[in-house]
Amino acid sequence: MILSGSEHKHLAEVLRARVGEKVILCPNDGRDYVYTITSFDKTSTTLEYIEDYPNETEPKFELTVYAALLKGDKTELAVQKLTELGVKSVRPFISDYTVQKSEKSDRLRRAALEAAKQCGRAIIPTVAEPVTFSEIIPELSKYDAVVFAYEGAYGSGYTIEEVLRKANNAALIVGPEGGFSEREVSALTSRGYNPVTLGKRILRAETASIAGAAVILHMMGEWK
Ligand code: SAM
Repeated sequence: MILSGSEHKHLAEVLRARVGEKVILCPNDGRDYVYTITSFDKTSTTLEYIEDYPNETEPKFELTVYAALLKGDKTELAVQKLTELGVKSVRPFISDYTVQKSEKSDRLRRAALEAAKQCGRAIIPTVAEPVTFSEIIPELSKYDAVVFAYEGAYGSGYTIEEVLRKANNAALIVGPEGGFSEREVSALTSRGYNPVTLGKRILRAETASIAGAAVILHMMGEWK
């Protein structure tokens, strides 16, 4: 096996790996592949195959996070943390109150790739191209549970536990800095997606998606 380009550079220059060291390659197929470094040259690294086995880090519970685009690099931060937490997919959307109306998807996908490598995942979460809020609604019926995190739900909404029950997969929906418009709230509640509270305090959007994903994955046994 010959590694070249950025993977060779990462190994030789960033990690400063040596001949004889073992490396684990994860080609996004759910398995880890162990190699020994046999030689380096200016532009490539040569590896010898040792063994491969199933990667045990992937969660069984499949969580997809629908995240409204956020200002600056906050969406990138959320993608990085959601990847570490074990989220299956991130689906950014543009809604009535999103300030940032577009995003460089390759930047988000690079954040997912780097985070997956750093935390030892076998699968890199998919990061979809941003779509409009209305376009995400037809997708929601495919999930066992939809956790519609609504900032106005405290006191009258549901809890995460009540919505998750015996789900095997779920979608978490988090709005932008400006929250959800009334039109968006009724578009979800009129289809039976109950508003869920994340507690008494109003969280920043990136906090809501990261903390919401952590609570859901913990609740579904992924932190045992
Ligand atoms: N502009 C809104 C306001 O002042 O009420 C706050 C929106 S909050 C910054 C961004 C998103 O995080 C919300 O749309 C919601 O999805 C989620 N969120 C934040 N705090 C929440 C809470 N306590 N309960 C449920 N969702 C929350």
